[in-house]
Amino acid sequence: MKRRKSLLYFGFSMEVKLRSNTWKIVRMDLGPSVRGEIDPSSYVNKSIRISTRLKKNQEILEVLLHECLHGCFWDIDEEAVEKAAFDISKALYKLGARVDVNKLLKKK
Ligand SMILES: [Zn+2]
Repeated sequence: MKRRKSLLYFGFSMEVKLRSNTWKIVRMDLGPSVRGEIDPSSYVNKSIRISTRLKKNQEILEVLLHECLHGCFWDIDEEAVEKAAFDISKALYKLGARVDVNKLLKKK
């Protein structure tokens, strides 16, 4: 079977700009209990890391939103971010929003 050309194949990864800061979004194994992480905006090479253990697209969307909300509103408490990301991801998923995981670079 011929390998499909993809962004992943060429080693590009997605970047997201949140309030004039840019994060690279990568997928990597974060262990059994962490679904996602974000570096503080003060870091030079910032990344948002999404666990490769997540398989359900709605959950990937939720975790991505969760980390993006942290990036936008660094001082908002975890519980508010948790609830907002869950509710927004549910609404967006219902409307057909999906994360194209092939656009996210996998890091070991
Ligand atoms: Zn959080």
